[in-house]
Amino acid sequence: MASLSSPSTKATAVQAGRIRVLKEGSQPLGKGPVVYWMFRDQRVKDNWALIHAVDQANKANVPVAVAFNLFDQFLGAKARQLGFMLKGLRQLQTSIEDNLQIPFCLFQGEAEETIPKFLEECGASLLVTDFSPLRQIRKCKDEICKRVSDSVTIHEVDAHNIVPMWVASDKLEYSARTIRGKIIKLLPEYLIDFPMLQPPNKKWDARNQVIDWDSLIADVSRKGAEVPEIEWCEPGETAAMEVLMGNKDGFLTKRLKNYSTDRNIPLKPKALSCLSPYLHFGQISAQRCALEARGFRKLYPQAVDTYLEELIVRRELSDNFCYYQPHYDSLQGAWEWARKTLMDHASDKREHIYTMEQLEKAQTADPLWNASQLEMVHYGKMHGFMRMYWAKKILEWTKGPKEAIEICIYLNDKYELDGRDPSGYVGCMWSICGVHDQGWRERPIFGKIRYMNYAGCKRKFDVDGYIAYVKRLVGEIKKRKAESQLSQKTKQLRK
Ligand SMILES: Cc1cc2nc3c(=O)[nH]c(=O)nc-3n(C[C@H](O)[C@H](O)[C@H](O)COP(=O)(O)OP(=O)(O)OC[C@H]3O[C@@H](n4cnc5c(N)ncnc54)[C@H](O)[C@@H]3O)c2cc1C
Repeated sequence: MASLSSPSTKATAVQAGRIRVLKEGSQPLGKGPVVYWMFRDQRVKDNWALIHAVDQANKANVPVAVAFNLFDQFLGAKARQLGFMLKGLRQLQTSIEDNLQIPFCLFQGEAEETIPKFLEECGASLLVTDFSPLRQIRKCKDEICKRVSDSVTIHEVDAHNIVPMWVASDKLEYSARTIRGKIIKLLPEYLIDFPMLQPPNKKWDARNQVIDWDSLIADVSRKGAEVPEIEWCEPGETAAMEVLMGNKDGFLTKRLKNYSTDRNIPLKPKALSCLSPYLHFGQISAQRCALEARGFRKLYPQAVDTYLEELIVRRELSDNFCYYQPHYDSLQGAWEWARKTLMDHASDKREHIYTMEQLEKAQTADPLWNASQLEMVHYGKMHGFMRMYWAKKILEWTKGPKEAIEICIYLNDKYELDGRDPSGYVGCMWSICGVHDQGWRERPIFGKIRYMNYAGCKRKFDVDGYIAYVKRLVGEIKKRKAESQLSQKTKQLRK
């Protein structure tokens, strides 16, 4: 069980509040090396968990290694998500080994087995992990705590949130309104610059592992071919920083100006930061994004404030929900008023009821909804505004709220590049179950859950323009895919 006590180790470079002791080892640190099991924060730069691991290793004059476990299966991730992740990790291995002389060790299978085994083999005294509120990872950590030797200490570092999730609030928050003040009050303490990471004092003896990234990537591409990789989002830390700060098309440097006015216009996807895939895989730190964004506040105060509200308050509220609400991805996780109103209207007559297959294939009578579904299936990132409309229509067109939330999460996790994220579970739960929202005027099917419709979208933006934009986008993606398949076949024939 996690304790909120500060680590009983020597003073640390990372604020004590960011670190939780998951397990206190029987032996003092320093008997063996430090291992950082990296899961959610897949980056070398601006990573508090890595900084803590190096710091503790230096204090005890022992070496440090980074371990990553590639699960056989993780929440149904396909080629799109796994390819992106592995390509990012390939760059990470080079960067961490070349620049910091820290070995990167990749394991395959179940982390409950591979991580304790590695700790035993190398005689580690401290395991550092990053933080995820998802139940699969929490269960896995509980199991690791049980399986490692008594002597091993385990620290968890929240390297994902700016204000550590457990410091921001110790309970399930009702809405952005109830958590905003708590987070803002703590920003001066936590929204600080990162120290420069140097190679650790003591080097790891063993030689670096040779990882056959090409065959790993080919393997996930083959097994997860149903949802292929996308081309528009280049994986890795360098690419992430380019999207944030690049001279050509960087969000803060070139696109920020219209964020507050254009971010809800699906025809202008570039008005958004487009950083969610990088944030999801931890290839960029939200704290870095916030620090850099603050530098633009004098120029574009409204845009920066709106962006920080999304990046900090909304995003960290999602972690709060998933951590404190065990049923974060089902109807059971809705507040009582929402569950009641949804159940009161569960058997209301629906104009259309679509099967999962019809929805997946974008075969509804609503061309706007179909366009958003196709944007997600082929492009891998549905516009943020359309995600709300898309999810709410699933509630309207399925047998009841329980099925609606299941389908919504299934499709979101399968096709979105940023899927399987707390913000995704909360987005689906907000749309269908009114989580973090308030009650609205009661109406059929939705009850008191906020309603959205086609006419409302038409008033807000050029619906036909969006449908035509997605048609073009999907056409281009299919064309490029066909060309690449043809060139691969030609190459094979020539061999
Ligand atoms: C039904 C539904 C499903 C969603 N699924 C996902 C998902 O799988 N993964 C995911 O990361 N987000 C999800 N969201 C939240 C949001 O739509 C995306 O984070 C956003 O569209 C990502 O694009 P961006 O980075 O360009 O956004 P920007 O507008 O540039 O936002 C900046 C950052 O703020 C955060 N953010 C923005 N909106 C929200 C929000 N509503 N809740 C929490 N954090 C937010 C994200 O980290 C985002 O990168 C979902 C929302 C809904 C309604």
